[in-house]
Amino acid sequence: MERVSVLVVGGGIVGTAIAWRLAARGVGGIVVIDLDLAGLYASSELNAGGARATWWQPVNIETCRATLDFFRAHAADVGFREHGYLWLYADGALWECAVAKRALQNAYGLGVEILTPADVWARFPLLDRARDEIVGATFSPRDGLVNPNAVRALYRDRARHLGVQFRNRHYVAGVATAQSMGAAGALRRVAHVDVVEVEPGDPTDSAGILREILTTHRVPAAAVRTETRFACDTVVNCLGAWSSVFLAKIGVRDVTEPVRRQIALVDVRRRDLPPGTDLERLGMIVDPSGLYFHPEGASVLAGYSIPDEAPGFDFTYDDAFFETHLWPRLAHRASAFERCALRRGWAGLYDVTPDRTGVAGAVAGFTNLFEAHSFTGRGVMQSYGVATGMAELLATGRFETLDLSPLRRERFDDPARWVMEDLHI
Ligand SMILES: Cc1cc2nc3c(=O)[nH]c(=O)nc-3n(C[C@H](O)[C@H](O)[C@H](O)COP(=O)(O)OP(=O)(O)OC[C@H]3O[C@@H](n4cnc5c(N)ncnc54)[C@H](O)[C@@H]3O)c2cc1C
Repeated sequence: MERVSVLVVGGGIVGTAIAWRLAARGVGGIVVIDLDLAGLYASSELNAGGARATWWQPVNIETCRATLDFFRAHAADVGFREHGYLWLYADGALWECAVAKRALQNAYGLGVEILTPADVWARFPLLDRARDEIVGATFSPRDGLVNPNAVRALYRDRARHLGVQFRNRHYVAGVATAQSMGAAGALRRVAHVDVVEVEPGDPTDSAGILREILTTHRVPAAAVRTETRFACDTVVNCLGAWSSVFLAKIGVRDVTEPVRRQIALVDVRRRDLPPGTDLERLGMIVDPSGLYFHPEGASVLAGYSIPDEAPGFDFTYDDAFFETHLWPRLAHRASAFERCALRRGWAGLYDVTPDRTGVAGAVAGFTNLFEAHSFTGRGVMQSYGVATGMAELLATGRFETLDLSPLRRERFDDPARWVMEDLHI
C-alpha cells in the first residue's frame, strides 16, 4: 500500500498540467499514474497542434487565452508560432453568427478581423479555387500552432522539478470507494485484476469517499505483473477519452464518448504554389467543408471530422481517408493541392461531450474526487488555463482567477445549462 496525497490518474497533457500547477502552489505528495507515459494512444500525442482562443463560449475563450499567453511566453520551448487562424464561411447564417461573436472575442483582446472575400484572396493567394462560395472570413492573428509533445514535455519537466512523481505502466484496474471497502476494509475483486468488482457508489451520497486506486504494473521484459494499491486523499480523473471507463467503476454515469478523428501529412510541390504564397508563414485554415489544414515542417497537416463517425475506441486509420475526405476538399479550395501526395496518416480520439465543451471540477457524490477531461478537440489549447483553475480548486476549494464552474458535469442534467460550443472542428 502506498499513501499518496493527490493521485492524478492519466498523465496526458491535461493531467500533467494540473499536477504541475498544483505543485507550483506548494502542494506536495502528488503522483501521476499512466499506463503509457509515452502516450502511444493518448490524444496528447496524436493531435493537430492547433492553438486558438477564438471560440464562441466565454469559458472556452478564457481558458484558451490563458494557455496561449503561456505558449507565447514560452514560444521557443513549445514551438508556438503565432501565425493566426483563418476561418472561411460559405453559409450566410453562420457567417452572421461569426460576425456577431466577434464583439465577445475582441472584448477579450483577441483582435479578430473580419475579411471580405477580396481581402482573403489578397492575403491568401493559395486559396485560388471556388472563390464564389465564400461569403466572408475571420482572421485571428493571435492564434497559431504549437508542438503538443513539447508542451507536455515542458509541463512534465516543471512538475518533476517540483517533486511530482510520474509512474509509468500503471494501468488503473480497480477503484475502492468507502461503500465498496466492505467490513474487512478490503478491495473486493474477482479472479483477474482487469475486472475488479466494485460496488457502485451512490453519486447522491455526499459522504462518498474514494479510498483506493489499484493499478497493475506490467514489466514486459520480465513478464511480471505486479499490483500497487494507492491510498489517496484526493483523486483527479484526467483519463481523457477513457474517463467514462473509470467513472463506470464507481457508478457515475458519464455522457462523454470517445470518437475517432483522422488526420494526415500531405506533401505539396513548391512549384505548384501560386506566386506570393509563403506556406511556412501560414497558420491554421478552416474550410467551410470542415477540412482544416496548416503547414507542419516541410508538409501540410490536414484533418477532417467525419460527421457520422460512430463512437468507440477506434485507432484505425482508413486507407481511403485521404482520397475520400481530404484530397477532394484540399483540391477544391487550392489548385496547389491538385497534385499533393499523402505522406502518412493516423487516428486518435476526441473525447466528445453533448455540448462540445469539456468537463472539469469536483465530482458530485464524492468528497475527494475531481476531474478534468473530454475537451472535445481542445485539450492542448485549454491545458494551462484548465490546470490553473483546477489547481486553485484543489488547493483552496474555490476558483480564484479562472472560473471553471460552467464546466461541471451537473450541467448535463439540464440542457439550458449546456455550454454549447459551435466553433469546433
Ligand atoms: C486527431 C486529433 C486532433 C486534435 N487536434 C487538436 C488541436 O489542434 N488542438 C487541441 O488543443 N486539441 C486537439 N485535439 C484534442 C487534444 O489532443 C485532447 O483534447 C488532449 O490531448 C486531451 O488530453 P488529456 O490529457 O485529457 O487526454 P490524453 O492525452 O488522452 O491522456 C489520457 C491518458 O490516460 C491514460 N490512460 C487511459 N486509460 C488508463 C488506465 N486505465 N490506467 C492508466 N492510464 C490510463 C492514457 O495512456 C493517456 O496517457 C485533437 C485530438 C485528436 C485525436
